[in-house]
Amino acid sequence: MSTPRFADFERILFFTGAGLSAESGIPTYRGKGGLWAEYSYEDYACQRAFLRDPERVWDFHDKRRGMVATCEPNAGHRVIADVQREKPGTAIVTQNIDGLHQRAGASGVVELHGSLWRVRCDREELVRDDTSVPMEPRRCSCGAYWRPDIVWFEDSLKESNLERAHELLEQCDLLVTVGTSAVVYPAAHLPRIAMQCGATTVEINLDDTPVSSLYQHRLRGTASHILASMR
Ligand code: NAD
Repeated sequence: MSTPRFADFERILFFTGAGLSAESGIPTYRGKGGLWAEYSYEDYACQRAFLRDPERVWDFHDKRRGMVATCEPNAGHRVIADVQREKPGTAIVTQNIDGLHQRAGASGVVELHGSLWRVRCDREELVRDDTSVPMEPRRCSCGAYWRPDIVWFEDSLKESNLERAHELLEQCDLLVTVGTSAVVYPAAHLPRIAMQCGATTVEINLDDTPVSSLYQHRLRGTASHILASMR
């Protein structure tokens, strides 16, 4: 089967994971150099840790923000943003929290796991963009700590984001999944929804994943290289 070309589709859905940003120098989640090999999420990335010691959780997130702020979108992010510019029916659903799609020029990105660059006050139910490094002040004017607007371990995904992702999967004519290990919901279910609705499905990854066999096209290599080959 020949590699699908973006030019042959109108409603392309890119579903992206940490592997897309690996070439920007941001470590992936699992595997060598992975963040959670070094830090335990129970101490830094769950609501329980935040309630126990917000300063420690913020120190960790400041470090992540500082690291990501020095990274640039890579050629893979740029191909995706270019395709979206050329084809207005293109959508992006990401598990990444780094904001690199937007920095490459993409818009309307559905951030399933939130963003490093938004904070929220749960007491006042406020959300705001914040790109300061370190994030200051750490407390909202009401006195409560701002919390990173990220889906931490043990949190639920936002219902409206999930609904939007489902809608986009049902409507797309090409699903391109890029750089996700696809071991957790919803990543593991996405190709099924798109396929049931008649879409062509492509998985781009360095290696096979537990759901690779569901895809019609399994393209192996770095995200930037394979995405460029689909132009
Ligand atoms: P993951 O680390 O579980 O899997 C990454 C996948 O990308 C692997 O299957 C790997 O083979 C593949 N990969 C690595 N380098 C690649 C490359 N250059 N080209 C193509 N594929 C490559 O990541 P995940 O499935 O996204 O799940 C991780 C979770 O952690 C997500 O929920 C995400 O929110 C979070 N996370 C985000 C970032 C980020 O924002 N950049 C980074 C790390 C983790």
